[in-house]
Parts: sequence; structure tokens; C-alpha cells
Amino acid sequence: MSGPKAYGGARAKRGSLATADQSVMENARGQSPAARLKMVIRGAVQGVGFRPFIYRLAAELGLNGWVNNTARGVFVEVEGTREKLEQFLLRVEREKPAISFIQSLESSFADPVGYVGFEIRKSEGGEKTALVMPDVATCPECLREILDPENRRFGYPFTNCTNCGPRYSIIESLPYDRPRTTMKKFTMCAECAREYADPANRRFHAQPNACPECGPQLQLWSMDGAVLALKIDALEEAASAIRQGMIVGVKGLGGFHLMVDARNKQAVRNLRERKHREEKPFALMVPSVEEILRECELTPLEERLLRSPESPIVLVRRRDSVSQLASSVAPGNPMLGVMVPYTPLHHLLMRLLGFPVIATSGNLSDEPICTDEVEALERLRGIADLLLVHDRPILRHVDDSIVRVMAGREMVMRRARGFAPLPVMLDEEMPSVLGVGAHQKNTIALAVGRQVFLSQHIGDLETEQASAAFERVIESLQNLYEAKPKALACDLHPNYISTEYADRVSKNPIRVQHHYAHVLGCMAENGVKAPALGVAWDGSGWGPDGTVWGGEFLKIDECGFTRAARLRPMQLAGSERAVREPRRCGLSALREALGEQALERDEFHPVRAFTPAERKIVVQMLRQGLNSPWTSSAGRLFDAVASLIGIHQIARYEGQAAMELEWLAVRSNDEGVYNFALRADVGDAPAELDWRPMVCGILADVERNAPPEAMAKRFHNTLAEMIARVAAAAGLPVLLSGGCFQNRLLTELTVARLEADCIKVYWHQRVPPNDGGIALGQVVAAARQLRLEESARERKCV
Ligand SMILES: [Zn+2]
Ligand SMILES: [Zn+2]
Ligand SMILES: [Zn+2]
Repeated sequence: MSGPKAYGGARAKRGSLATADQSVMENARGQSPAARLKMVIRGAVQGVGFRPFIYRLAAELGLNGWVNNTARGVFVEVEGTREKLEQFLLRVEREKPAISFIQSLESSFADPVGYVGFEIRKSEGGEKTALVMPDVATCPECLREILDPENRRFGYPFTNCTNCGPRYSIIESLPYDRPRTTMKKFTMCAECAREYADPANRRFHAQPNACPECGPQLQLWSMDGAVLALKIDALEEAASAIRQGMIVGVKGLGGFHLMVDARNKQAVRNLRERKHREEKPFALMVPSVEEILRECELTPLEERLLRSPESPIVLVRRRDSVSQLASSVAPGNPMLGVMVPYTPLHHLLMRLLGFPVIATSGNLSDEPICTDEVEALERLRGIADLLLVHDRPILRHVDDSIVRVMAGREMVMRRARGFAPLPVMLDEEMPSVLGVGAHQKNTIALAVGRQVFLSQHIGDLETEQASAAFERVIESLQNLYEAKPKALACDLHPNYISTEYADRVSKNPIRVQHHYAHVLGCMAENGVKAPALGVAWDGSGWGPDGTVWGGEFLKIDECGFTRAARLRPMQLAGSERAVREPRRCGLSALREALGEQALERDEFHPVRAFTPAERKIVVQMLRQGLNSPWTSSAGRLFDAVASLIGIHQIARYEGQAAMELEWLAVRSNDEGVYNFALRADVGDAPAELDWRPMVCGILADVERNAPPEAMAKRFHNTLAEMIARVAAAAGLPVLLSGGCFQNRLLTELTVARLEADCIKVYWHQRVPPNDGGIALGQVVAAARQLRLEESARERKCV
């Protein structure tokens, strides 16, 4: 295995848990504000009275803080109670000056710093880092034009203006001018050219400006590439095909969607069969927010997100009432992923349809989204019945982003359209480093000064297509910012495609342990300094000891980390197969808790889930350790518990068992906690959370026929309690990272539990908690290491 240098300069040695005096944190300081809201607002917000507006709004709500104007946007920080801050956030968009237009509003919460009064700070000139804007949803004025029969853009699906339209998906290089976009092949007509040249016009210097005379056009294709219809006819025929239950591949902004009528059971079944996607929930495009309200409950924050210029898929709660949707859209799922139309094409199509459609990425499962119509003929053959295409090339694939509101804040779970490639702003200058990310949900990150540009979601690097997309994104992000990184950071796992790439292009890439990267990413986006305790819970990541980690408590210091505690490891019979079959984890957990004779007792769900012959093989594997690596993975503990309770034995998609446990648990108010043990560190081993008493508790509950909802809830309560126990011993601020914290119940229970103990706790907001956030952590780790090496050299010189 690699030496200490490989994961940030410290050995993953014995963890020591300090005692808990520091855990009484500032938030107990009587009258001090509850939180600080940080915002970066971009768009037509400069020179339009935006700062005085912010000042008045803050004063009205009694908030302290400041606003300033920089080359990178308008920055706002306000402090106050959570309720007031949420009101502020909602009212900025609702009440902004009529002449202003917001193209992007990023918000996140941080600790209060004790501002007094509110000030309009001096504008910062500074370096004009050209910022590539994300693709922005259609603005109200463009929407009005395409719906107005008197307007020359009536029904034109590629209408845009300086406030909205494609950006990142069409920009080849900077500066942002039409010849450097994929619009270069369209010559503006006289009328468009006049708008483009008129400083008083909304389309002044709107690079993708176009109209029905001069711009891109629609075509409807059969799957052998024959042109069936043009322009408005193509749109109408595509709509009627969807209405008839066909699957239509629609070329949109950042790639193809596959669209089908979400009410049509047979159509949804066809899509599932052809896309090889058995049960994983599909996202929906719904004609309007009002229509969404018929199916789902929305909080004000969720509604804001749906209507925002970023226009992501938002995960929201379904109503219990009767639904018009086919149940196979999101089987058994109390949540729905919904979005509203965000380009003129989608607005026009959804108006023709008037009902919700599935809008899922145009690809086979796990491949990157398809962006080119000729390629689509090949890649979507056998899936789509028809293709609705256009001749504006998509330079970069950009998927729909996915956001969930958690503990009263946004959490971006997939960062792509509307967000990429906006930077994450750090508190300190970074050396120029490229992080190539992990293996699943891959993204890459490029550090330039205080900004880290996080790429759009690339996906799982399983296929040739994904690897090619990965290399394309690396090249194009570096070109866009003319960056020549002086170091390259990658995962410690030797066989990730991303690691192999790093080894190929760099002599000595900096290898960063997976969970360390998770935690550093979370610290960076929340502006938290070491020392801190990172809770990194996910499916798997390569540990420096060569075992599979995934239920980790890492104590972060200035130079690196120590593994303070972990979940008790269990064996994965069949390795990868155990990830797809929770029953294998169930059996393994049973063997750990009760010994081998328990594996004959078929009152236990995992035992019953196998035929005797299958079980014999699995038990043999466990006994002899054949292809049965040990892992401390929290994800696998979720799988084991899902199997023990009897709710899920074989997963149809990644994370299914954990999601189903969450869905069950939210239906229960049970406050029970199962027993567990925290064994202090002995010798070189980290402290260990022993879940075997919990397994016994679950089995006892199963035996007395306790409701599965209650068991699932108690399991979540127990996890929060486990984290609280380790955190109390460490006495440090806590960061929650890793895919397990996409689970809203787990996150909210843990946050509440730690706050009750007056322990500061942070979680992800702008950067995904899953492996989509790893690249950010990698560049931070690499920067730390470069700094250490620098100071070591300096010491030598002295
Ligand atoms: Zn517009
Ligand atoms: Zn024109
Ligand atoms: Zn991970």
C-alpha cells in the first residue's frame, strides 16, 4: 500500500478520542443570531438598484450583514434567525427591482460571525475572471413572446435573450462570443442583428440570439434517420406520438430526454424494459408548478427551487390522494423527482401535452446522456420510437440537476444544468490543482485562486462512453480557463478509471483517501477549519490498509487525518454481488451476531431468502473468506438491516434497500433506539461501533411482529445515536458526508441529535454528499499536501 504521503501527509494511525468539553459550542450563547445566510447572485443585477433593494429588505427584516458588487456577481451575507433568513431568501426573488433579472442564485448557510448593522460595501474591482454561466431556464419575457400569436417568435422553440438560454452547453471557448459557440453556423437575419446591436434591447449581445427566419429548427426523425416532419409539424407529431404511448427521444438543452406519458402504464413498462431499468424511479416533467401541486406537497423552499432559473429536478413528497400517474413511475416511493419546462421547446411541447411526462436521460442505464442526433440513432435504437431533434449542436452534455431540501436548506445531489460550471468559493487561495474524482457519479474539479470549478455530473465510469466523456470534460474545463494545473489529485483506489487516467498523464499524482476527500469537501464548502470530526458514510472506498472502508469517523487535523472510529466490519460474500443482494449482507450480519448455527434457522428473513443450496455456498464463502472481503461500509449495514427486517433481499438499483428503509421509517414516530456498543481504541485499531446488539434487537422485534416502519425508524434513530456517541467523545465540530447522507431522515435526525448535545454540525449544501463531491475534496487535500511540502522545503533551507 502507499505510504503516508499518499493520503495527505498523515498516517491513518490509532484514533484517539478526546473528551468532550469543547462540545459546548457557541450556539448556546444566548441572544446571538442562529445562522448566517450567504448568497451569490448573478445576472442583470448590477447597476439596477439591486444593492439598495437588498439593504432595504435586510433592514425591514432586522438582519445584519453586508452586500457588495464584484466582477463575479453580487455577494450578500445576512445574519438572523432561521425563519427570517428563509423569508429573506424567498423575498429577494419575489420583490427584486423590476428591471433586474436573476440568472443564478446560490445560497448556503454558515455560522454567524456577529455582524453589527447592515452595510453596502465598496464595490470590488479586482480581476475580472471571466465566468462561464450555466444554462439558464427560459425567462418570463421570452415565454410571453413564444405564446403571443402577434410576435415574430410565436411558437419558436429556440427563443432566448441575455437573461436566459443556453450557455455552458454551447460555449467552445472564451471570451463568450457567437463565433466561439455552436451558434456560429447560424447567420443572424437583419431583424435579429438589429436586436443584437441595440443597447436598449433585451437581446443586446445575446450570443445565441435566433428567430424562425435564421435560427435552429426542429425535425422529427424515424429511428432509421428518415425526416418525417419539420418545424411546428415535427413538434405536433412528437406530441401526438407521446399521447399515443410512444417513447420519443427529445434533443433538449444538454442532451436527449426519453419522454413518455407518465399516466400510461404500458408506455412506462415499455420504457423500463427497453432501458433495462427495472424499478429505479423516473423523474417527471410537469407542465407547471400548479400541476405539481396536484400530486405533491411543496414547501416554500421547494417551490422556489422549482421556479428558479436553475430549474432543477426537485425531490418532493407525494400527496396521499389518488394519483393520475402510473404506479411504475416510482414504485413504492413516497417521493417524486419533478421539474417544470426550462427551454422554449419544453414549454411548447408540455403545453401541447398538458399532462406529466417521464423525462429521463437519453441513454442506456449508467451511460452518459446522448447529445448528438446521429449518435442517437445508434444509441437510442431499440429504446426510442421517434426522435425530435434540432440542428443546434450541443457541445457539452449537461444532465438535469437534482436537489432536495434537507434540514431547511438546499442540498444539491446531482450538480449539472443550472449550476455547472459555477465555482465553489473557498476561504483561501489554492494552488492550481485538478481533481479527477472517484468512480461513481464522477465529476472533476479545477482549482483556480479561491475558486474551485466543479464540472457537471459525468456519471459512473463503467462504460467506454463514460470514460470518453470524462476525458473530454477534463480537457474542455482546462481549456475554458486556460489552466495548467501543477498537480493532479485522484482516489487511492488503484483500479478506478479516474486513477488510471491520473497515473497515465502524471508522474506522481497525489492519491487521496476516499473518505478523507468526502470530509474535506464538506469542510471546504462550509468554511470549517481543522480540527474537526468527519463522519463519512457511504457504500465503499479504498482504505489505506487495503480494506474496504465506508462507515468512517475521521479526525481531521492541519496535515491529514486519523481514523478515530469505524463501524464494525462485516464480510461481503461474493464481493460485488453482495452489493446487489442485501440478503448476502443480512446473512453475514446474522453470522456475526449469532454465530453460524443461526444460518440454519429459517425464521430469519435472510436465511429464507436463499435456497438451501445457494445458502450453503454463501456460508462456505464466509467461513473460508473466499471472495468475501471485510468492510466497515455503512451502506452495507443498511442493506443488512433491510434484509433482516425482510423488506428487501435483491436490489434492482444502487441504494435501493437504503432508500426503502428511509421511506418506511418516515411513516413512523417511534423513538426507540437499539442497543449497540462503542469499543474504545485498542492498540493500533480505531474505536469500533459494534452493531451486533442492534441486530439482536431487530431480530427480537421481527419475532414479535413489530411493524417494519417502527423497526426502520429505530434503526435510523440508532445510527444518529451512534454518531452522537462518537462525537461526544471527540468533542469536535462534526461534518456529515458520503452517500448515506442523501438520506434526509438520517441527516435530519443526526443534526437534531448533535444540536441537542450542543455539538456544531455541518452537512452538504452546494456540493453533493455522494461521490459527485469527491473531486472538490481531492483538490483541497492536494493543496494541503503541497503546502506541507512547501513548508518542509523552507525548513530545510533555514
Ligand atoms: Zn429570455
Ligand atoms: Zn433572425
Ligand atoms: Zn463515497
